[in-house]
Amino acid sequence: MDDVNEKAGHLLGLKEDELVAFVERLGEPKFRGRQIFAALNARRLRSFDEMTDLPKSLRATLSARATASTLTVESRYIASDGTRRYLLKTHDGLPVETVFIPEERRDTICFSSQSGCPLQCDFCLTAKLGLLRTLTAGEIVEQIIIALNDAYGAGQPTPHGTNLVAMGAGEPFLAYDSLMKALGVISAPEGLHIVANRVTVSTAGVVPRIRELARVEDRPHLAISLAAPDDELRNRLMPINKKWPLGELLAACKEFERSLRPGERFTFEYVMLDGVNDSDEHARQLARLLNRHELRAKVNLIPHNPADPLPYRPSTQERVQTFKAILESKGVHAFVRRPRGRDIYAACGQLAARRVEAAPEPKLYQLA
Ligand code: SF4
Repeated sequence: MDDVNEKAGHLLGLKEDELVAFVERLGEPKFRGRQIFAALNARRLRSFDEMTDLPKSLRATLSARATASTLTVESRYIASDGTRRYLLKTHDGLPVETVFIPEERRDTICFSSQSGCPLQCDFCLTAKLGLLRTLTAGEIVEQIIIALNDAYGAGQPTPHGTNLVAMGAGEPFLAYDSLMKALGVISAPEGLHIVANRVTVSTAGVVPRIRELARVEDRPHLAISLAAPDDELRNRLMPINKKWPLGELLAACKEFERSLRPGERFTFEYVMLDGVNDSDEHARQLARLLNRHELRAKVNLIPHNPADPLPYRPSTQERVQTFKAILESKGVHAFVRRPRGRDIYAACGQLAARRVEAAPEPKLYQLA
């Protein structure tokens, strides 16, 4: 099975020219490659059997040599606000989570880049799983296709456009190659056609990759998760800070900000933890930090989403508003992000395999 997925090919991980080369190696004409690429990505068909416009013999060869889908949907939950959360399983039995967030103007899909996560952010449920495996490009693309098909049906156009956010399980910059490859597949006009400008990648602060992205021509928007305004607190909340402390991180952010082109977004994320990082002094420190590095990026304040095994509570609404007002009084643009899908544990920092009591037939991976 590994061979099928990684070598002969999970075809969703291939760009159109790679798929054309693949079918040519099978002795087929180029146009078949383009046809299969469109069937997989534009029509979002998940098996070769559904591609009835291909000769039967070619479908049989494809089935023997490659695969069109490797993820299975273990469970699906729909929140009262319409947010859909999918617990998927890889071919080797690992959990993957994807969230579909319907919006009036443009739906958003939050996808995972890894199964579990190696970074031990203290406020994050996914961290408790540790790293199970980095996902392949095909597994990243497939998450988007599963969510779109569930919402709109295979072969059906998406009535709204789609935004993507790499804010599910995992640190996307530790899955950099898979991520960039997947974004290349996803952006193709003959396929899903979700261009880089519709994608936001959130990192806990992998400094070398931030610098690398600053040199990439066609790139997604970038968000940096801060969670603390000083090294001592950030070391505790986000241990990656011990490797790349705030001074180094913000210097890389400044380099990235200098590389911004018109229309590009670059933001900071600040999870608000009651009594931990949300005082007036924390707000003043955060403003001083950003101003000292002459960073103009806006700050998204994210009320923490409570999850039982974690010893954190969300800041009160009043606290969040006061924090925001202090940042703004110091010239820092701040916004409060509305939590979505809280009742099904689909909100930020809650993405981890866990049991949802109210859900039908839960077949979830329990936390240890
Ligand atoms: S917050 Fe993100 S980077 Fe940190 S442990 Fe959780 S999934 Fe990993």
